[in-house]
Amino acid sequence: MKAIKLLLIFLFLINFSCKKDQDSESHDKTSKLQDKTSTPTEKHFAIVIHGGAGTIKKENMTPEQETAYREKLQEALNTGYAILENGGTSLDAVQKTINIMEDSPLFNAGKGAVFNSLGKNEMDASIMDGNTLNCGAVAGVKHIKNPINAARIVMDSTRHVLLSGKGAEDFAKQYKLTFVDASYFHTEKRFNQLQKAQKKDKVQLDHAFINTQELIDDHKYGTVGAVALDKNGNIAAATSTGGLTNKKYGRIGDSPIIGAGTYANNTTCGISCTGTGEYFIRTLAAHEASNIIKYKELSLQESLDNVIQQIGDLGGDGGLIGLDKKANIAWSFNTKGMYRGYKKSNGENIVKFYEE
Ligand code: ASP
Repeated sequence: MKAIKLLLIFLFLINFSCKKDQDSESHDKTSKLQDKTSTPTEKHFAIVIHGGAGTIKKENMTPEQETAYREKLQEALNTGYAILENGGTSLDAVQKTINIMEDSPLFNAGKGAVFNSLGKNEMDASIMDGNTLNCGAVAGVKHIKNPINAARIVMDSTRHVLLSGKGAEDFAKQYKLTFVDASYFHTEKRFNQLQKAQKKDKVQLDHAFINTQELIDDHKYGTVGAVALDKNGNIAAATSTGGLTNKKYGRIGDSPIIGAGTYANNTTCGISCTGTGEYFIRTLAAHEASNIIKYKELSLQESLDNVIQQIGDLGGDGGLIGLDKKANIAWSFNTKGMYRGYKKSNGENIVKFYEE
């Protein structure tokens, strides 16, 4: 009798555990389904930013530098967050957030743009609306104080996506944009970086046997990017850069290329990238991250990690940030660090520089 009772209890437990497994599996499936079909909640909003990736190591930073970066990144986040909190659009939030970083010499965009091989500053920027897939970009502009504002005008006021060089500047002159003399972009720090880079190239050419590690130690990017989700569930992404130090004049990187350096789509995510732009173009990195979510149904974090893996496999480096319609935030990079942070309507607020 006792044996029968024990057998019955045993059978009951097996049945219960199988049912639990089935329940959790069907719950997983449901949540995936909800993820695909649910309309974005009105309440959640968030912004995530980057200020470039590269050899950003604690031992190379003074406390003063850390404070300067932390404060500027926080100011940028606060600016975008305030717009979102007041019911503004994600497009306005990313644009104004980027303006803060473009006006700072700390980042490789606007004021702090790096020099090309001729000692000139040529800047690129792009912006995209995840609701309409409308987008705008400028490349190789030299006198527009805030290139992201020109990208926004291309998006809002033309039937085109990308304008370059003098044509972009002539077009932008019809609008109320601030134009500056090229000398505005001349900073000592960036000029020294150009000289170092040119010395490194020369050393490599003249003395292939010399270890150039010391000359590439401040190898970092510094492009700025922002992705935001507003109260209406709309995602926008934007990126602004001076490009790569010592780049060939006329070279255009990934930042103004929609799908490479910037992408936004309400149904998947918004993305902004930083790093060796050629690799982000070759992998169409930002769009690839979106497609991985769309077709492989991976999480935002998994998709960003996958893209960085692809870039690393090709020999490239850098990072990217992403935000989805549920206000999930992710970043991934294969460099020593990436200036980054986010602020969400649930109270989370983080600024980070180094590897986790
Ligand atoms: N991705 C940019 C470019 O290649 C550089 C950077 O991210 O700093 O132009």
